[in-house]
Amino acid sequence: LTPKLTNIDTSIFTVMSALAHKHKAINLSQGFPNFKSDQKLIDAVSKAMHSGYNQYAPMAGNLDLRNAISKKFELLYQTTYHPETEITVTAGATQAIFTIISTFVKPDDEVIIFKPAYDCYEPAIKLNGGKPISVALIAPKYSIDWNHVEQCITSKTKMIIINTPHNPSGTVMHKTDMLKLQELTDGTDIIILSDEVYEHIIFDENLHQSACLFSNLKARSFITASFGKTFHNTGWKVGYCCAPKALMEAFRAVHQFNVFSVHHPTQKGLADYLDEPNHYLELSQFYQKKRDTFLNLIKDSRFSYTPSKGTYFQVLNFSDITSKNDIDFATYLTTEKGIASIPMSVFNDHNRDDKMLRFCFAKTDETLKDAADILNKI
Ligand code: PMP
Ligand code: GLN
Repeated sequence: LTPKLTNIDTSIFTVMSALAHKHKAINLSQGFPNFKSDQKLIDAVSKAMHSGYNQYAPMAGNLDLRNAISKKFELLYQTTYHPETEITVTAGATQAIFTIISTFVKPDDEVIIFKPAYDCYEPAIKLNGGKPISVALIAPKYSIDWNHVEQCITSKTKMIIINTPHNPSGTVMHKTDMLKLQELTDGTDIIILSDEVYEHIIFDENLHQSACLFSNLKARSFITASFGKTFHNTGWKVGYCCAPKALMEAFRAVHQFNVFSVHHPTQKGLADYLDEPNHYLELSQFYQKKRDTFLNLIKDSRFSYTPSKGTYFQVLNFSDITSKNDIDFATYLTTEKGIASIPMSVFNDHNRDDKMLRFCFAKTDETLKDAADILNKI
């Protein structure tokens, strides 16, 4: 009866959202917007349902959607992913990530990940018998020490997982980082899994450094993306991944027995909605305003911070407030003060010295104001 994956706690997102619900706390923990997505998109999905897109989509995804995704890559990054062979629509980025890892990682393979890391990478590696090799990103800059990465690359390295803009720290990788990654892996068969779910949420003139912009990286990379993040509907769980043909063929061999295909009317609706580039081009500006509103509201609080450069998360440091560890402090804020966040240590091998909490600012201005009123009194 022993399962393959042991010592796994319930996801912190489930735990904190449930605690917030129980204590009627403002929930800035789990990352999801508390405002509606565009009515035009909802109408497009509803229209697709009424027009008969209600049976299985093709295994790789609705072709109109794959064409629209391909066009987006051409427009944004001047690069091509062929819709027939190089793009697959998935049940959110999570399924893409799980399937990519399952497709390639064998027992004893090593996979380099950067800590703090989003929570779904490590269990998928372990479930496939692989060994996660952690490289620490040191607060407050969370920048990558490439010498350390170089030391971690061995003949067993199968994959390196990067994530930019980065959840949970809100930092971004720069062109120099991508060039270094390219240099270190050039001439190897190391697969890059580039988790780019926040590609359209990047601030202060930073440019998103997609792995597809670097030709030697692109040749070995999967890029994963999430419409939930981009169009404010995390509950729809539709995303996609792209990779060169041979890698995508291997991926689809697993994907077809994993989910086979994804909710069809949503795909058709998204295809129509993606035709208008402003629907994703305006997102960074929208969230930069939210970040600035939030930070301006809490500027006189006792929390300290470096403004988030991407994602819809802001990390706040509480070392001037209490000597509590971050889990205890996050629990106290939720149960006693009515505001929920995510303790950073859960993304970081439970390193309790972090003294950081992650707050989601994908919320209405009223919610941000109510949250700030509480944080200013802490
Ligand atoms: N990667 C990162 C970095 C994320 O933050 C998330 C979820 N927010 C995902 C992947 C999963 O995306 P999805 O909800 O589309 O499965
Ligand atoms: N990605 C979201 C976050 O970081 C949560 C996703 C989930 O609940 N699994 O908060």
